[in-house]
Amino acid sequence: MPEEMKRNIVLMGAPGSGKGTQGAILSEKLGIKAFSMGDILRNVATGETKEAKKVKALIDKGNMVPDKLAIRLMEQELFKPENQKGFILDGFPRELSQAKALDKALNSRKYAKLHMDIDLVLLLQVPDDYVIERIIGRYQCAKCKSLYHEKYKHPQVFGICDECGGKEFTRRADDTYETVVSRLRTFRRVTAPVIPYYEMKGLLVCVDGTGPIDVVSEKIRKIVGY
Ligand SMILES: [Zn+2]
Repeated sequence: MPEEMKRNIVLMGAPGSGKGTQGAILSEKLGIKAFSMGDILRNVATGETKEAKKVKALIDKGNMVPDKLAIRLMEQELFKPENQKGFILDGFPRELSQAKALDKALNSRKYAKLHMDIDLVLLLQVPDDYVIERIIGRYQCAKCKSLYHEKYKHPQVFGICDECGGKEFTRRADDTYETVVSRLRTFRRVTAPVIPYYEMKGLLVCVDGTGPIDVVSEKIRKIVGY
């Protein structure tokens, strides 16, 4: 892979900014893994260790995992040999304290030779009303989970899933106006302070996240340099 290519990447953006989708595309193109804290927690929770049981209990109760534990689990994952060629973090760090703790872990003497420092922080920018429209309009096939949108992407034959021919569609219970607005507020209060932190380190690049998926991923491709 070219020397100048970015390989340790943090993806930031409000809920509904498309960072999960773009993270998956980047992951495939670069051949490196994309993680969210949720993925890691669910993965850990399937184990049999004491820690696994603790994490499972927290998830089941819907509680937040304490910072210290979150960082330790993230660290364990990132330093696995198969992830040392690069990583994409989707929605993590979620708050400033996590960003600082992550830097500390990545720069620790134990890992000094591995070049695990963050190379690039991509911020997907989308206006609030765009996010709200994107989220509250989406629905999915009850059978194969294919995603549709009541304004942008109906099935080609109305009421019949393009992928599996299913005729039943569902919506996620938390895709309501109230929930989206509350998640946007939380993003601004909790996560937005991470943005100037990375900006001061010279790592932040903002990307306009509105528009079709392939247009956004092309902008990201140029920045990442693959
Ligand atoms: Zn379907």
